Amino acid sequence: MTAVEMGDNLPMSCRLSVLVQTPAHSGLSGPLTYLSDEALPPGTLVRVPLGTRETLGVVWDTPPSLEPERPSDTASLYAARHITGPLSEAGQLPVLSAAWRQLVGFAARYYQRGLGEVALAALPPQLRALDGAQMARRLAKRSIAISKSTETPSDASVLESAPTSGALLLSAEQQQVLQTIEESPGPFLLFGATGSGKTEVYLQAVQRILELDPLAQVLVMVPEINLTPQLEQRFRQRFEPTWGEQSVVSLHSGMTPAQRLKAWLAAHTGAARMVLGTRMAIFASMPHLQLIVVDEEHDPSYKQQEGARYSARDLAVYRAQNEGIKVILGSATPSLESWHHSRPANEGGRYQRLHMPSRVGTGAQLPTVRRVDMGRQPKGAVISPPLLQAIQERIARGEQVMVFLNRRGYAPVLFCADCGWKSECPHCSAFRVFHKIDRSLRCHHCGFSQPVPKACPDCGNLDIASLGRGTEKIEEHLQALLQTQRKPNGQPIQMVRIDADTTKIKGSLEAQLAQVHDAEVDVLVGTQMIAKGHDFRRVTLVAVVNADSALFSSDFRAPERLFALLMQAGGRAGRDAAFLAKQGSQAELWVQTDHPTHPLFEALKTHDYPAFAEAQLKERQEAGMPPFTFQALVRAEARTQAVAQSFLNAASAAGAELAGAEQVFRFSAVPMSLQRVANVERAQMLLESTSRSALQAFLTAWQATLHSTRALPEHKGLIRWAVDVDPQAI
Ligand code: ADP
Ligand code: ZN
Ligand code: ZN
Repeated sequence: MTAVEMGDNLPMSCRLSVLVQTPAHSGLSGPLTYLSDEALPPGTLVRVPLGTRETLGVVWDTPPSLEPERPSDTASLYAARHITGPLSEAGQLPVLSAAWRQLVGFAARYYQRGLGEVALAALPPQLRALDGAQMARRLAKRSIAISKSTETPSDASVLESAPTSGALLLSAEQQQVLQTIEESPGPFLLFGATGSGKTEVYLQAVQRILELDPLAQVLVMVPEINLTPQLEQRFRQRFEPTWGEQSVVSLHSGMTPAQRLKAWLAAHTGAARMVLGTRMAIFASMPHLQLIVVDEEHDPSYKQQEGARYSARDLAVYRAQNEGIKVILGSATPSLESWHHSRPANEGGRYQRLHMPSRVGTGAQLPTVRRVDMGRQPKGAVISPPLLQAIQERIARGEQVMVFLNRRGYAPVLFCADCGWKSECPHCSAFRVFHKIDRSLRCHHCGFSQPVPKACPDCGNLDIASLGRGTEKIEEHLQALLQTQRKPNGQPIQMVRIDADTTKIKGSLEAQLAQVHDAEVDVLVGTQMIAKGHDFRRVTLVAVVNADSALFSSDFRAPERLFALLMQAGGRAGRDAAFLAKQGSQAELWVQTDHPTHPLFEALKTHDYPAFAEAQLKERQEAGMPPFTFQALVRAEARTQAVAQSFLNAASAAGAELAGAEQVFRFSAVPMSLQRVANVERAQMLLESTSRSALQAFLTAWQATLHSTRALPEHKGLIRWAVDVDPQAI
């Protein structure tokens, strides 16, 4: 080990490479050199001085600078300083494994961010705040907790006598899939209809691994844990009886720093056998990781939208390959990238596609899709008469209805018919949304909020009207339409709205969802929050009020997103075959649209994701779009649009000679579609290449150019720039 060899030469101290949290644009992205009395192995957590502070660092693999220490150096700014010490006594806290360090290294390189930034962001924030003594207390508390929890038996004898902890008898499809997963190396794309029992497959795949190896750990990733508390419960109920209360930990941004540290330590020390987490969990330190599951792998929330803009799904595939373990990506509507990767091997596919087309349960079927041509409905109808009638029938039978709309608030715009005034945000190039509940005009981008004006601010017209509709308005409208409606027991109906506004208070979402599960609610109105993953047993009809805006979006991924969302929303209907049979009811997905014959809706009607995907992929191939090309986006923010654009264009021109440049097409800078947010002007430049490695080489070389271009006097008003590799929204 280099540090030890160095130590032989320098009797007083040896040199260590240490990663610390360096500001993103300091230009210091690699490890710093520190001195240490003892040679600490890579992956050791240490406390080090940095400037005037003391901070957390990770001993890294790269050999420290080989220059011998010279006395004159001590005065210099870059003289190596002495580490304060390791965060814990040797042996108390395991080092971060080589595999973990490789994951961090790959993420930093691929997503073009500083190694120190990525490494430290991958650790729980509270770790940074602890000194050695505090850490020791934390670890002591942990080992007491663990020895207590092992008193509740978790050894082999219990495994045998345990009443299989609720594992269901698998359907033939599920069994086939599970067997393939066990016998083949993967990566796997589990393409299974909503309600086909994918989650049960994950549960049993996990269970087998935990049973086979007393140390094995698994990582299960889900898009948004707090949206689906039910799923977390399902995992806990399945595993905790056998493997103990410590066996399942969660990792997500809704946890307090103390909770996160505790969960992280459990994973890092191997005490937790399963980590259930959101995208950040991809960086969990798990020394005995054997399996990664990425549920709803198509979900956009797997892409981090700030700092290092990593895709947790893509990193999961890298991590699994790097550690020689299996990874299962699951979805009813896979991302086109994953779909493409899972084409037959002889056509270049790298993933193994597994298919579960049927819903679980005898007679269970996917919902019938009904398109309502809004052009043929009474003018101005929000809920068309046939849809209203269908809703009324469901409620009368004691079934639940879900009404889905992709916009919260009451109305997206307030508007004066006299002078044309609209409720624009003064700080953003966007409209403020009218929220009737507190009569405010709120900007969803910068948060700027004002009471609704009594009259038009421009002409004084007292009659300002609302344009368009949000969830609040739909709720109000449905309340009025269903006012006289009664449940089977003669009671008036109950309606609940679930969106970002009604779920701000901690616990309110859980309470609202519980009401739905307990059948207290008849009509559920909400945004995509209600479309995701919930296993509602009594919902038999799902209605999408207006799906059209995404049909003609400038973002080439909009149709893919819309299709996934509609399939997912439809997937909430008729999940309980027995309930449907008892009711003599059919699951239905209603879509109101002005374009009922659009190919997207045709594919939706037959639940034909493969046909939709093939058509989309063909279009993408012809247009030279991902996954057939690779993209990166550079975004710049400045005081003026001119500076933001000129910075990008100048950096592009200055990069013409760099590695890979001739294979990377650089478009001209353009304003972002949301051009101004909170008085900051935003521009972007798209980079495209048919070669991923050329794009990577160029981006790596280009970093220095971006830094030097920024320093030019003409770019003084530039605030920041950032590279987004494999951007999800253009
Ligand atoms: P998905 O994740 O594909 O949407 P789930 O795993 O949530 O599907 O399964 C849908 C419903 O069917 C759940 O209520 C689940 O408990 C039930 N289920 C899954 N597999 C089986 C099975 N083999 N036998 C009986 N019920 C099952
Ligand atoms: Zn006016
Ligand atoms: Zn704003």
